[in-house]
Amino acid sequence: MKRFKGIISLVFIVLLMCTAPVLAAPTVNLDGRQLSFEVPPTIENGGTLVPLRAIFEAMGATVTWDQTTYCATAAKGDTTVVLNIGSTVPTVNGHIKQLDVPAKIVNGRTLAPLRFVGEAFGGTVHWDPNTQLISMLSAPGSEPAAQTKVHFIDVGQADCIYIQMPDNNDVLIDGGNVEDGPAVVRYLKSQGVDDIELIIATHPHEDHIGGLPAVMDAFKVEKIIDSGRIHTTSFYRTYLAKVKAEGAIYEENNKQTVNWGNIVLKIFTGDKTWQEINNESVICQLDTGEIEFLFMGDAEILAESLLPVAIRSDVLKVGHHGSDTSTGVGFLSRVAPKTAIISVGNDNVYGHPSPQTLSTIQAVGATIYRTDLNGNIIISTDGKTYAVSTAKNLPVPIAQLVTPEPMPPAQSRGLYMGSSKSDKFHYPNCSSGQTISLANRIWFASEAEAIAMGYVPCKVCKP
Ligand SMILES: [Zn+2]
Ligand SMILES: [Zn+2]
Repeated sequence: MKRFKGIISLVFIVLLMCTAPVLAAPTVNLDGRQLSFEVPPTIENGGTLVPLRAIFEAMGATVTWDQTTYCATAAKGDTTVVLNIGSTVPTVNGHIKQLDVPAKIVNGRTLAPLRFVGEAFGGTVHWDPNTQLISMLSAPGSEPAAQTKVHFIDVGQADCIYIQMPDNNDVLIDGGNVEDGPAVVRYLKSQGVDDIELIIATHPHEDHIGGLPAVMDAFKVEKIIDSGRIHTTSFYRTYLAKVKAEGAIYEENNKQTVNWGNIVLKIFTGDKTWQEINNESVICQLDTGEIEFLFMGDAEILAESLLPVAIRSDVLKVGHHGSDTSTGVGFLSRVAPKTAIISVGNDNVYGHPSPQTLSTIQAVGATIYRTDLNGNIIISTDGKTYAVSTAKNLPVPIAQLVTPEPMPPAQSRGLYMGSSKSDKFHYPNCSSGQTISLANRIWFASEAEAIAMGYVPCKVCKP
């Protein structure tokens, strides 16, 4: 009997050891009222998924479900939300919202990311991980946060980006070709631009500076930053004469940080001379809080390799109109964009964007927008989330942009591999390199790129 008891207590101890602690499902309050669900909220990969229909209906929205397309549509007032199961790009009134994880079906109920559900109809969400309490307000008492809008203006085979910040702070990066000047001026006037705080002329090619003289004629400009690279063309001479006549602060040595309230524009380049004019491009990153934009001008792979390692950005203005001379695999893995914008002309003679570059961008999971297919592209952000709207072809599925190619095997993504957690670089087949977890792997196109990034050769594979 004693022995039998011993076995029972042993079984009991084993059972105890096997039972992992179970976290209670989060509680959801809407406007102070606790909601109950048939399928509880769940936490997955650090993100919280909540029942979409129950919460939307509690907010007063009408929800319809299309079983054939696995698509939920919710409407309240003049707001319509459309969300497909498995997709990370639901729309709110046709504007695409980017989700970190897709919505999924659990026991016949749609679960979608918390913040999206809470904010889709203009509400706010507060999540307290300690008490597992989610508090939602369907009618926020305060004004919505000030928006920054980044306009990728369709200027054909050229670049023109207008950054519209709160408090009438306006930045223009490039101005398209000479013939685009009047249209750029009209566009800026239609957006209520009175004066321009900063113009960045990335580099002296016509498709970047050509339209700027017309802009300088139409608006008072406070400050102009360019690459300092001079060029022999008449476009450049006209541009430079206008810059001198404008009387703005003019800086060629452009490595600096400019602040407007909480919004920061970091300019990385300016202390190196290159043979290739495109590599002289002024590269800058707009930091609006949790959302970053990286503007590459026409910078190519060599210039990419000199950027800081910590260059992660939600939105990438792809370098050099999507040419395969830019957007190296190592660089792209460090930026890890969710959205990639290509400013490119319809049927251009250069064959931009290159199919190779498109598939490289697809391989990191970014959604691609192109001015040739989408027209003007506007990204609005409150510094926490962002929404993309386009003038035409609204949601262009990525599969239509480029023939889908399977993700290339790891070995072909770059010649050399390193870890974001160490300073060694390896041949991809190095036994020591193989121990680097997939998430930490970064790629270099060349030994020079790895060394420029501060990496040293591995002693095992001696690359
Ligand atoms: Zn260009
Ligand atoms: Zn160029």
